Amino acid sequence: MIEVKKLTKQADNKLILRGVDLSINKGETVAILGPNGAGKSTLLKVLATLIKPTSGDIKINGLELKKNHIAIKKILGYLPHSSLLYDHYSPLENLVFFGNIYGVKDVEKRAKELVKEVGLSFFLNEPVKNFSRGMIQRIAIARAIVHEPEILLLDEPHTGLDQGAISILNTVILSMKKKGTTTLMVTHDFKQAAEICDRIIIVKNGKIVDDFKIENQSLGIVSEKYELQVEGVS
Ligand code: ADP
Ligand code: MG
Ligand code: MG
Repeated sequence: MIEVKKLTKQADNKLILRGVDLSINKGETVAILGPNGAGKSTLLKVLATLIKPTSGDIKINGLELKKNHIAIKKILGYLPHSSLLYDHYSPLENLVFFGNIYGVKDVEKRAKELVKEVGLSFFLNEPVKNFSRGMIQRIAIARAIVHEPEILLLDEPHTGLDQGAISILNTVILSMKKKGTTTLMVTHDFKQAAEICDRIIIVKNGKIVDDFKIENQSLGIVSEKYELQVEGVS
């Protein structure tokens, strides 16, 4: 479903991605872990079509990304590192606004369902400007999936959330997985990664340095690998 070959990205004379090869199957939930500045967000932004790679090839559903930008954009959902919602809009209005951009049918019904799914029905019509980080993030994830994307790209979705918001977020990600969505999630939280993902990729210094399935692996093994690769502890 996603095929990345020899991907590089240079900015300001700095090589941020140094030859990334990656293959992701339909329906996989993949965590991308790695130290700060490793190039994780850059990789996600390239896949989200927000920035252009310097070289390399990306195919999504067999289509070359650079030649099929518009068609591919429609099947992507992206949650940026920090999400900007329209402050004076309510959750309902924020979702309807984005749903309309994607031409979502019955957009109001879909928006209401999503607000319910993320547990904020009570605040359906409240302006989001006074919402907590966790509430904002719940709406932001609802917005990222309003058009039922085939591929979901999440940049640090759990960062700064309380336990309640984390478990709602995980429920939403797992329910998308049941519908066949492919998810790539950048995170610093290997426990969340081990809990909801099928596979972990570790990015370091612009390259993939480890890639393993977490099926049948204990959290201990995942944490050992994480410490070894990310924190440099051995
Ligand atoms: P991560 O998400 O793994 O923390 P990023 O992908 O955000 O890392 O960034 C990787 C490195 O590239 C960092 O050192 C960052 O400062 C640098 N970088 C990111 N975007 C740009 C840019 N547009 N211009 C120059 N340097 C950048
Ligand atoms: Mg970072
Ligand atoms: Mg980042």
